[in-house]
Amino acid sequence: MELRDRKPVSLRDKFKEHYHNRDFTPTKTQVSSFGMGFFGFMVLSLLLEAQLVLVPTIYNEDAWRFWLTTGLIWLTFLETVSNWYLSYWDVKNYVKGETRAKYFSSEMTETPPGWRTCPKCQVDAPPRSHHCNHCGKCILKRDQHCFFTGSCIGFFNQKYFVVFSFYVALGSAFAIYLQILYLSQEFSFLSWDIITYFIPVTFVQWLLGNTTLDKLLIIVHMYLCISTMCMATFVFLWQILIITYGATSFEAWKQIFLYTHSAADNFCSVFGSLKVIPILFFFPIKVEQDSDGIMWEVKRKRVKGH
Ligand SMILES: [Zn+2]
Ligand SMILES: [Zn+2]
Repeated sequence: MELRDRKPVSLRDKFKEHYHNRDFTPTKTQVSSFGMGFFGFMVLSLLLEAQLVLVPTIYNEDAWRFWLTTGLIWLTFLETVSNWYLSYWDVKNYVKGETRAKYFSSEMTETPPGWRTCPKCQVDAPPRSHHCNHCGKCILKRDQHCFFTGSCIGFFNQKYFVVFSFYVALGSAFAIYLQILYLSQEFSFLSWDIITYFIPVTFVQWLLGNTTLDKLLIIVHMYLCISTMCMATFVFLWQILIITYGATSFEAWKQIFLYTHSAADNFCSVFGSLKVIPILFFFPIKVEQDSDGIMWEVKRKRVKGH
């Protein structure tokens, strides 16, 4: 082809060709990376913001409050991160090929009653376990897949997840309290200054040179903390509710209450024992439960639904 025969390609055509028929739906890995990245960003940025900006400014002349607040910040930080770690690493939740062999002999050819062969990972899965498309495995007493911990919440890590959501809610509330104390030194809540707490207004104020970049960033951060606090509080209260009723999120949604015992027994099933619950909220230690999450005694008839 000669040069003069070539049609000029516009930038618009180049873009069209480049992005034509492309699927922009995020993959499961991307969603998980985003969730874990958001968690990591929030935890580290809040720690740095609180230690380097908020606390030194608010309590610069009050040593007692300075050290008390610093201690509480580090306690919340360490509890959140260690319970995240415990929620993330418990791979005992996976249903493996040998799970069935723990209770049934290999001579038994059919799937045991109450069990089902998972069409996706081909293992014999016990009651209450479900396949997770993100993990690619069947999970014992599967509750949900959490993108912020990057793991499935199931029989062995639900206890850590409950404590984790509690500390995320508490840490966010604590951060909002410190951010408001810091910001109210310049913008009062009890005057028209309150309008400055709306991001577009703060942004314009910053462009006009009426406020500093750190104040703008702290206000944006405060909104992220409010969203995180609302979400974590909801998750924590929901978990307490479903544990009380002895159900998983899926079972509660479908109104299947087959495995509910007394509220105390339901809590023991998740946490190991009632005595361990207050300990777990202060010390992030590994705790074993009595059962292995495989065999479940049906206690009550289905209330409604399936
Ligand atoms: Zn499966
Ligand atoms: Zn999962």
